Amino acid sequence: MNANESTEVFTGNFTQQEPIPEEAIEAAVAVMRSGRLHRYNTAAGEAGEVALLEKEFAAYTGATYALAVASGGYALGCALRALEVQPGEPVLTNAFTLAPVPGAIASVGAKPVFVGVTEGLVIDLDDLQVKIAETGAKVLMLSHMRGHIVDMDALMYICNGAGVAVIEDCAHTMGASWEGVPSGRHGLIGCYSTQTYKHINAGEGGFLVTDDEDIAARAIMLSGSYMLYPKHLAGPAPEVFEKIKYTTPNVSGRMDHLRAAILRVQLRALDSQVDKWNARYRVLEEGLRGTAGLTLIERPQQEHYVGSSFQFLLLEWPDAKIEAVVAACMKRGVELKWFGAPEPVAFTSRYESWRYAEPQSLPESDRVLRSIMDIRLPLTFSLEDCATLARIIRSEVERLHLA
Ligand SMILES: *Cc1c(COP(=O)(O)O)cnc(C)c1O
Repeated sequence: MNANESTEVFTGNFTQQEPIPEEAIEAAVAVMRSGRLHRYNTAAGEAGEVALLEKEFAAYTGATYALAVASGGYALGCALRALEVQPGEPVLTNAFTLAPVPGAIASVGAKPVFVGVTEGLVIDLDDLQVKIAETGAKVLMLSHMRGHIVDMDALMYICNGAGVAVIEDCAHTMGASWEGVPSGRHGLIGCYSTQTYKHINAGEGGFLVTDDEDIAARAIMLSGSYMLYPKHLAGPAPEVFEKIKYTTPNVSGRMDHLRAAILRVQLRALDSQVDKWNARYRVLEEGLRGTAGLTLIERPQQEHYVGSSFQFLLLEWPDAKIEAVVAACMKRGVELKWFGAPEPVAFTSRYESWRYAEPQSLPESDRVLRSIMDIRLPLTFSLEDCATLARIIRSEVERLHLA
């Protein structure tokens, strides 16, 4: 590759993940050979891949109960249903997140209330207090968007004090922690995704974890257990289901053995994958440090993050100049996502685009949102690739900053 800073082009693919490990492929083939793909279709004495995965995910997160489901978005909706959130009820969530989060709130007929974002890309705790007081909301769906974790001790202090239940959206924090507590384990419920672009890859899939037996029982019934809940290895005792089995509707969203088989192998490797992501993240971070006009997000020391994507800010840049940076980087093979773009593009949208929610105005957050630049770091990128990305972004940002 040409190391000349002004002509170098990047040729990596930002949406190409690693192949599924051979051991996982073999496990998947064994499931297909058995013909038993449905999670409750098990032979005598067989636990099944899904129940085993749930047991292993509960152990990984330290949760008492774990449920594997069809998607991360399903887990979020299931969490709201398990909490018996009512139509028309306000549910707080981040202004900076992705569409499945307000979508889950809308799916139960509840009203998304957006809470602002700080320059550290976490939920604004002052605005959270204001919105709790203004709306009387009893639920916060907290999105650890792009893996940035807010001071969870401060957040839980506020929410516990106000009687607000916290559902954590850990789509970008599976494998992360705050002060040693795994992400998803501060709130009442943690939700995760195993979709291809997250940290373990089953194409689709998700998890819900909790220590609350009633919520766990309702979530299992909701996910479509029928009366087969005793087959769960990470669920509450049958007596708990006796209380809720006639009053909890079935909203099918189960995981299957095929996905579970490939996830079990990947879960065992998650911590070492996290180390690989973070090594790449640090190369990019060091390469961009000191770039004129570019603000890095300094990661708090209590946060153990997963650097599967990278963000920086172009604060106070005019839209036209940001568009020029995106275009110039694109020309050199570097796909930057701009969260401030007025129109939703691909996976990226901003809160004004979710027009099923009541219009809301967050001027402080708008200033931050319109400056957020985002880049994916799949593990198919080498450390050298990350150094190249940094050189290209730095040269284009510095050139256009002066222009
Ligand atoms: C991907 C994602 C989800 C939902 O996960 P799916 O498995 O795609 O339904 C939720 N929140 C965020 C922030 C996400 O990026």
